[in-house]
Amino acid sequence: MINKPKGTVDLTDKEARVWKYVEEVIDSVMEKYNYNYIRTPIFESTELFHRGIGDSTDIVTKETYDFKDRGERNITLRPEGTAGVVRSYIENKMYGTHSLPVKVYYNGTMYRYERPQKGRYRELSQYGVEVLGSNDPMIDAEVISLAYNINKMLGLTDTVVHINSLGDKQSRDNYRKALKDYFRPHLDDLCNDCKERFDKNPLRIIDCKIDNNKEYFKEAPKILDYLSKESKDYFTKVCEYLDLLEVKYEIDQKIVRGLDYYNHTVFELMTTNNNLAIGGGGRYDNLVDDLGGPFTPCVGYAVGLDRLVNEIISRDIDNIRDDIDAFLMYVNEDEKKYAIYLSNLLRMSGFVVETEYTGRSLKSQFKRADHFNSKYLILLNSDDLNDGLVTIKNNKTKEEEKIMIEYLIYYFDEHISDDNLPIDEKCSCYNHGKEDDENE
Ligand code: AMP
Repeated sequence: MINKPKGTVDLTDKEARVWKYVEEVIDSVMEKYNYNYIRTPIFESTELFHRGIGDSTDIVTKETYDFKDRGERNITLRPEGTAGVVRSYIENKMYGTHSLPVKVYYNGTMYRYERPQKGRYRELSQYGVEVLGSNDPMIDAEVISLAYNINKMLGLTDTVVHINSLGDKQSRDNYRKALKDYFRPHLDDLCNDCKERFDKNPLRIIDCKIDNNKEYFKEAPKILDYLSKESKDYFTKVCEYLDLLEVKYEIDQKIVRGLDYYNHTVFELMTTNNNLAIGGGGRYDNLVDDLGGPFTPCVGYAVGLDRLVNEIISRDIDNIRDDIDAFLMYVNEDEKKYAIYLSNLLRMSGFVVETEYTGRSLKSQFKRADHFNSKYLILLNSDDLNDGLVTIKNNKTKEEEKIMIEYLIYYFDEHISDDNLPIDEKCSCYNHGKEDDENE
């Protein structure tokens, strides 16, 4: 037997259905906010991530899947979505052809060679948003509220956004110096990762999961005390707009984010259920420039779909159907042909229909219909069919009635009141019945 690679998951059954439901909610909310879907390659040139995410980050130093392809090119499976979107923005010269800001969202798999555990995989999925071409705090607030509202729509009403500001370059330089001065006397006591971070990326010492309970961490300098006036004003505006958008947030100076490219606003989405962040993001004004494009201020975020789906399943708050509309039952070949014909007719008219595929007895078909929580059973019986009739049984009340085959669609239109949509409203079989009706 061949097993799946370590750190990957098979998405099946209930989880797969919740996943699709979550994606549908995301797509529909994105449409309301007028964000366009974008799809970039799963692998990119290795250099993109080194230059984009930063050589000193954990992701790039320890976690990428790098390989040489058969043409000796250095290739990396994308560990995150932003660098690819920015590369695409530059390569396709969107700054010249699109009205700014460009507002896009993506949804796809990312690859990180991490130690697998619950909520942490090597193949993970993220949906994310990037807005390229605006430095108005209004867009930071919109992007944060978009993430927040999607969580809310999915039933995660306890989502709280932890927000912080890293300010502009001068603010960060001042803060970095203050941090180094503060932690220098404790250098020997810091974990090995933090010892490395001390020189390369001292901001990341602040969110160290190993050291941050130590007493002297509590007194460490706080970023907001080092912000320039402009940076402070920017952050104040973002918070003001978040209030208008009714986003629940708290200022959390421990949020510095793992990637090098952030400035000003940074944030993470937390739920009370879980101490792992569901998502995070922030402003990255210099990345387009760093990757060879014109200066373009940007803001974005990514949410882990694996964690989002796990959270929804663990609370049992998914909004997906757990029943079907009808199960078509038959025994002989003539009846089976009607099952084939009528299941197609019903499905194309928007109803959720199942039938029998392995020649089971009627008794077993009743069981199968129950297994799918079928609202109605359609009993196809040769004698009735010869008279143009089918028997419909309400599987809840157990009431039965015989109706003419041509009224089947009307019957379901009338009796099934949920929001099933016809696959194609102009579908000929759907209209067929209506025309008949009008002619009568
Ligand atoms: P990041 O790109 O590291 O800021 O992560 C954004 C979100 O992606 C996190 O909050 C998680 O929900 C998700 N995520 C990151 N890494 C993993 C992983 N290894 N496995 C599962 N989800 C992840």
